[in-house]
Amino acid sequence: MDPVHEDDLAARLKAYEGHPAAVAATGKDPVNVPMIRHWCEALGDTNPAYAGPDAVAPPTMLQAWTMGGLTGHTGRAQAYDELLALLDESGCTSVVATDCEQEYLRPLRPGDEITFDTVIESVSARKTTKLGTGHFVTTRTDVRVGETLVGTHRFRILKYAPARPPKKPPRPRPVVNRDNAGFWEGVEQHKLLVQRCTACATLRFPWLPGCAHCGGPDWDTVEASGEGTVYSYVVMHHPPFPAFDPPYAVALVELAEGVRMISNVVGTPYDKVRIGMPVRLEFRSYDDDLVLPVFSAAEEDA
Ligand code: ZN
Repeated sequence: MDPVHEDDLAARLKAYEGHPAAVAATGKDPVNVPMIRHWCEALGDTNPAYAGPDAVAPPTMLQAWTMGGLTGHTGRAQAYDELLALLDESGCTSVVATDCEQEYLRPLRPGDEITFDTVIESVSARKTTKLGTGHFVTTRTDVRVGETLVGTHRFRILKYAPARPPKKPPRPRPVVNRDNAGFWEGVEQHKLLVQRCTACATLRFPWLPGCAHCGGPDWDTVEASGEGTVYSYVVMHHPPFPAFDPPYAVALVELAEGVRMISNVVGTPYDKVRIGMPVRLEFRSYDDDLVLPVFSAAEEDA
């Protein structure tokens, strides 16, 4: 945004300070025991002050009594919607709640019927945060029972234009633990190692601490030949993980040795991957310290 427009926007935003965001709004429910109980259960708050015939509401519930739910509350003033629309138009399309502050003037008790007024207290100058550049908007809600001010709730949001996403993140690292460390050591040496139970000779993959066939804890390894076929596959479209470029095929490959493993089929368009397709192991470097076993189409014997 060029400086002239930015100054103009700043002035227009500033003009909303002091305007109402809600006028003479009423709580959707009176202060009540079930909502207090649910709140205390959700927070694990067992303070005896919040139960029994003389119960008061937890003070931090102040905002809960003003919430409009899905349908909103009556009394919402146009100025707040206009302010948010202006911020949207200026590119600040994202929103995050940053903090709230509350003051308690007297306890709320079951049966209290609350009303409230909300004012746009401040709109900050343009600020740059890790999330992006935008404006902090602070509203102050004065909560009353009858004519008595019982509490004040300040709520601050940041409306911002998201920072450009960072360059493509690296592919996720495998989780290496005591049970599978030997597998990843093999991968480093471009070997695909399959565990073999030394008691019953059953092969197993992925790596596990014991034999699923006989329960034996002891094992050695055999190196897979690298020949296999696609036993099944899925094509990932959604959700798009940042390190990957959908669509791509994820295959369950049956190795010549009989065990199956999940990996990518590379070098073949995702929509050409087929069940029964012969594939061959290769080790692909994804970055300086990540090598993964993947599969590519094998030449079928003529
Ligand atoms: Zn066994």
